[in-house]
Amino acid sequence: MTTEVITHHIVARYSEESTKGTIEALHFGEKAKLQRSLKTSLVCLGVAGVCLCIPGAHFVLVPLTLLVSPLIIYKVHSQDTKIIKADIACPKCHKPLEVLSSQERYPLFENCGECHREIRIDKA
Ligand SMILES: [Zn+2]
Repeated sequence: MTTEVITHHIVARYSEESTKGTIEALHFGEKAKLQRSLKTSLVCLGVAGVCLCIPGAHFVLVPLTLLVSPLIIYKVHSQDTKIIKADIACPKCHKPLEVLSSQERYPLFENCGECHREIRIDKA
């Protein structure tokens, strides 16, 4: 399985009020997750290579990059979804709600950019 775009119906809630909307997310299959991990590995090696060219600082930057790289690669590999678009209004002020979470793990909690209330988002 490779990458699929899946649309889910969602509900945003704030106390007793709620609105309905949709969320579009990329779902990564094992092959796509492996490809993303390999790309991330190459980027980390590239950064280490660039750091190698900085006199003096390379003594610190290259080992630091090589130590942090496995953590970044692990984080990228463990991410199986990525939210690309959300279409939902704030249940309190009815302005469009911006979903900043990167992964689709319910419940999501987002702060409204207009009224600054914490909105809970669940799958409908
Ligand atoms: Zn609001």
